[in-house]
Amino acid sequence: MTLDNYNFAGKKAIVRVDFNVPLDENGKITDDTRIRGALPTLKKILEDGGSLIIMSHMGKPKGKVNPKFSLAQIKDDVAKALGRDVKFAEDCANAAEAAANLKPGEVLLLENLRFYPEEEGKPVGIEKDDPAYEAAKKDMKARQKEFAKKLASYADVYVNDAFGTAHRRHASTAVIADNFDADNKMLGYLMEKEVKAVDNILSDIKRPFTAIMGGSKVSTKIGIIENLMDKVDNLILCGGMTYTFAKAQGGKVGDSICENDKLGLALDIIKKAKEKGVNLVLGTDCIAADSFSNDAKTMVCSAMDIPDGWEGLDAGPETRKAFQDVIRTAKTILWNGPAGVFEFDNFTGGSRAIAEAIVEATNNGAFSLVGGGDSVACVNKFGLADEVSYVSTGGGALLEAIEGKVLPGVAAIKGE
Ligand code: AMP
Repeated sequence: MTLDNYNFAGKKAIVRVDFNVPLDENGKITDDTRIRGALPTLKKILEDGGSLIIMSHMGKPKGKVNPKFSLAQIKDDVAKALGRDVKFAEDCANAAEAAANLKPGEVLLLENLRFYPEEEGKPVGIEKDDPAYEAAKKDMKARQKEFAKKLASYADVYVNDAFGTAHRRHASTAVIADNFDADNKMLGYLMEKEVKAVDNILSDIKRPFTAIMGGSKVSTKIGIIENLMDKVDNLILCGGMTYTFAKAQGGKVGDSICENDKLGLALDIIKKAKEKGVNLVLGTDCIAADSFSNDAKTMVCSAMDIPDGWEGLDAGPETRKAFQDVIRTAKTILWNGPAGVFEFDNFTGGSRAIAEAIVEATNNGAFSLVGGGDSVACVNKFGLADEVSYVSTGGGALLEAIEGKVLPGVAAIKGE
C-alpha cells in the first residue's frame, strides 16, 4: 500500500517517526529538521480525517525511563508544527485508552519507545560471552514481539516514516509490521523519498561517480568504502582518516587522530583501489593545529610530515583544490562525513570547499546526495542544503542501503 492510495478517514494511524532531535541543556530543540521532515506524512493523515498516534525514540536511554530523553520536551514543538493540540501518553506501552479515545483529527504522542528495552530487543545487563546470553536473547525477542503487538493494537494502520532507524529491526520499526496486513501498512513520504534517492544512486549511475567519505575514523566507514570501490570512479577519503592513510604510507602524523591498528587496512584499501581502477584521492596537505581547539595556532603542512605537538584538523589548500577538481566533473556524487573538524569555525574550509564543488557540479546536471548527520550539518551551516539534489536524514541507514543491504524497516512493509 502507498500513502497516496490510502484514505485515512475514520482510521487510527500509528506512525513511527524519527523525532530524535538535538536538544540544548534546557531541553530546547536546536535543529527541528527531523520534525519538519515527517510533516507531509502526518498532515496527509490528519487532513484525510484520520487520528494520529506518533511514536519515536530519543537518545539512548538504554531501556530505562530517563526524563532527559523524554519526548514530553518536544510535545509543544510538535503541536506547533502540526498546528493542532497534541496529547501525550506518558507510558508508550500503556496508552490503549488514550488511543481509543482519539477522535478524527486528534493527535497522541507516545513517550520515548526506548524507555523499554523491548524496543531495541537486546538483552540488558548480560554480556555476550555469558552462557545464559542466548536464552536471554530469545526471551527478549519474545518480549519484543509482545511489545510490538501492544503498540499495533492502538491502531488500524501502520506507517513507517523513520528512515534514520530503518536499518534496525526494532519493535516499532519492523517487528510491529507483522501485525498489519499488506493493505494496512506503508512507508511514509520521507521514507519513500529516501528509498528513491538511494535507488537513483544505485540503479542509474551517471559517470563519473564520485564518493567523498570523511569523518573521524576509517574503521566505522570500512564497510561502505569497500562496497563503494565496486561502484565509483573516484573515491575521495578525507577528514580524520587521512592520517591513518598517511602513517600507513610511512608519513609522520604528529598528534593527529590516527588508528594505529588500521594501518594494514589502509594499505589494503589503496591496493584494492589500484586493482579496481578506482581513482583514490587522499589529502596531501593539511591545516595543522597546536591544540584541538578553534583558537589553536595553525599552519599548513604536508599530511605526511606533521611535527609532534601538532595535529591535522582540516584539509589544506592543495588538497581542497584536488578534491574540487575531481568533484566538479562528477555526474553522480555521494558525500558522507566532513573533511575536518567543521564544528570549529576555523576548520570548516575543507568541508566548505567540498560542499561548494558539489553545488557547482549539481548546477551542471550532477545528482548529488549528501547524507549522515555531520555532512548534513555542514551543508546546513554553509546554507547550501537547498543547492544539492538530495539531503538524506539517514546516517547509518543511508550507508547500509548504499552498501546494498536490505533495510529491515523497508522489508517489513514491502515484504522483500
Ligand atoms: P564520523 O562520526 O565518523 O562521521 O565523524 C564526524 C566527526 O569527524 C566530526 O565530529 C569531525 O569533527 C570529525 N573530524 C573530521 N576531521 C577530523 C580531524 N582531522 N581530526 C579529528 N576529528 C575530525
